[in-house]
Amino acid sequence: MTTKQCVFCNIAKDPVHPSPIYRDERVFVVKDINPKAPIHLLVVPNQHLNSLAYIGPGQVPIMGHLFVVAEEMARREGVTLSGFRLTLNQGQDSGQELDHLHLHLMAGRKLRAMG
Ligand code: AMP
Ligand code: ZN
Repeated sequence: MTTKQCVFCNIAKDPVHPSPIYRDERVFVVKDINPKAPIHLLVVPNQHLNSLAYIGPGQVPIMGHLFVVAEEMARREGVTLSGFRLTLNQGQDSGQELDHLHLHLMAGRKLRAMG
């Protein structure tokens, strides 16, 4: 897939795209279009990183920033104390659909044990 065909690259490159509910110079956050929980957000780096398989020491700052923004979004949604789950799907067996790395934030109901 080229970055031109990548849905998240298209959002990242469009400064007036209506989808993001949060943006900074490195990441944006959108509501998942097929939510699996009452609150289901995706925290996405602007830079196209296919998956964790492409992460090395140079990506430590952006990976850390994804978690900082995820926590900030949880706080804004009021679920810091009630709890939330962060998920990063990696590869075929995880069900990764989009080849542009992203962190899922799910909350708002009791989440089932993972398996
Ligand atoms: P993953 O399986 O980890 O690759 O997650 C992909 C997620 O992106 C799925 O939960 C989709 O519902 C969601 N999704 C796909 N396209 C969009 C979009 N344009 N805006 C928001 N969420 C999307
Ligand atoms: Zn992309």
